[in-house]
Amino acid sequence: MRIALIAHDKKKTELLDFVTKYKAFFREHILYATGTTGKRIIEEIGLSVHCFKSGPFGGDQEIGANVANGNMDMVIFFRDPLTAQPHEPDVSALLRLCDVYSVPLATNRMSAELFVS
Ligand code: PGA
Repeated sequence: MRIALIAHDKKKTELLDFVTKYKAFFREHILYATGTTGKRIIEEIGLSVHCFKSGPFGGDQEIGANVANGNMDMVIFFRDPLTAQPHEPDVSALLRLCDVYSVPLATNRMSAELFVS
């Protein structure tokens, strides 16, 4: 599967913990991520990740375009619901496209746990 991984800044540690826990699972799939999230997964976990631009600079939209084009099978997006994001419109657009194209979307850890279990 082609899986997109995204985490807002205050959720990055939680996502890295999650990906580390399921490293054997993620190694079997093609991974994509927004820039900073992907860089940290590569450097701290050692998985291969195709990195798009950083989220605030268009990365969420790049992932959204892949969803719209049928090139993404799952999105795991650890959102921070308690902090205003400068690129909130991009975030909303990505979530919307996942619903438009029925792409599985996990926006918190427990949902993501269900996806990989
Ligand atoms: P980042 O982007 O991985 O480049 O930090 C995530 C986001 O804020 O959407």
